Amino acid sequence: MDDAARIVIVGASVAGLTTAETLRAEGFAGSITLIGDETHAPYSRPPLSKHVLTGEWTPEQADLSDPIELAALNLTLIQGARATSLDIRGHTVTVGGEAISYDTLVIATGVAARRMAGTEGLAGVYSLRTLDDVVALRKELATAKRVVVIGAGVLGSEIAAATRKRGLEVALIGRTSELRLGQVGSHLSPLIAALHRENGVDLRLGFDVTEVIGEDHVSAIVLSDGTVIPADVVVAAIGSLPATEWVSDSGLELSDGIVCDSNGLAAPDVYAIGDVARWRDDLTAASTRAEHHLKATEQAQAVARLLVTGEESPAVVPFFWSELYGTKIQAYGRFPAVVPLTTIASEPGGARFVAASVQDGQVLGVVGWNMPRDFRLARADMVAAAEKPQSTQPELVGSETGSQHA
Ligand SMILES: Cc1cc2nc3c(=O)[nH]c(=O)nc-3n(C[C@H](O)[C@H](O)[C@H](O)COP(=O)(O)OP(=O)(O)OC[C@H]3O[C@@H](n4cnc5c(N)ncnc54)[C@H](O)[C@@H]3O)c2cc1C
Repeated sequence: MDDAARIVIVGASVAGLTTAETLRAEGFAGSITLIGDETHAPYSRPPLSKHVLTGEWTPEQADLSDPIELAALNLTLIQGARATSLDIRGHTVTVGGEAISYDTLVIATGVAARRMAGTEGLAGVYSLRTLDDVVALRKELATAKRVVVIGAGVLGSEIAAATRKRGLEVALIGRTSELRLGQVGSHLSPLIAALHRENGVDLRLGFDVTEVIGEDHVSAIVLSDGTVIPADVVVAAIGSLPATEWVSDSGLELSDGIVCDSNGLAAPDVYAIGDVARWRDDLTAASTRAEHHLKATEQAQAVARLLVTGEESPAVVPFFWSELYGTKIQAYGRFPAVVPLTTIASEPGGARFVAASVQDGQVLGVVGWNMPRDFRLARADMVAAAEKPQSTQPELVGSETGSQHA
């Protein structure tokens, strides 16, 4: 890329900022414009539901960079401004009615939280995606006693754990009968359910919320079996929607996200990365979108390197972590629902372990349950095995015990 090149990045969160940082680190000297519709400096979302919600961290501790680091990137940062359309042929994005020209566009607009239908205008009902969400929620929790969290995914579990840590009465409602954890799916559901119950959460799985009751402010929810659960605050963690409405008539292929090739290319000179992007996996020919902080970072690095050096990066392997009641859960790779987990390292009693998803002698993924050191080793084995020719791959990392966490 020559020094006169103009790279425009839409979405100023982890993927957008990492793109700018990597472009400069790789020696790109052209212009970078980073456009974001939030008014805060770029911040990291994982701490919001863990340390900021509990009150252990101030919101500022989630910042991804400080003003000096941002200034050193020598970019034009446009904050609090929404991109509203994209003209692929004309190489422009429209922001606040103004067309901004690019030579290369990187889209990193992430996802928005799905809101609870029918609760518009009802105070006390929240979702948790942004720094503003967590600040408002924390304020309300300061005077609340009873919280209902809706959602059987990892975010619902994290919010339930954080609000319990604040000493509130918590009910966690899931439509499905199992709790899910990122790409690990429901393999660890019994263990997570046990953690919630041990920590005093009223766990109700397999129920829909049919009504949210309240005049101006929420007072209760009703489950599909008619049970009424009082609530001062309701937090809905019921999924997300890729932020693609602004490119809906641009000609980009959209299918639960922006469809890209295995390098993130979505159209000539247009790349998409992070939560909004659906990259093709050349190995499996599958097209996947995942909402993981590290995947967003790695895709940003891959696109920035490709633009500057022309070199392609290896496929990004999903890596996810969470923390519930002090239990660290880390997962690397893939975990098909039909393949039960096999323990490969554990402490007596099984309170801490590392388990693997193994199919036809190949390790597809490893997950650590409060055993970070052993997880790191198992992950390193997996990475090393992936770099070897197929014929020399080991059958299984670590020693198989045969016990299963399914
Ligand atoms: C509470 C919470 C906890 C999480 N915990 C974990 C975890 O433990 N581990 C993990 O791996 N992942 C976790 N995640 C997921 C992780 O945060 C995301 O994968 C990551 O933020 C994705 O980064 P991104 O830059 O692609 O998108 P985002 O972080 O969503 O950023 C997109 C940005 O683009 C902006 N934007 C959208 N549309 C426009 C537009 N038209 N114009 C301008 N700007 C726009 C958005 O406002 C936003 O600022 C968590 C997410 C949340 C919400």
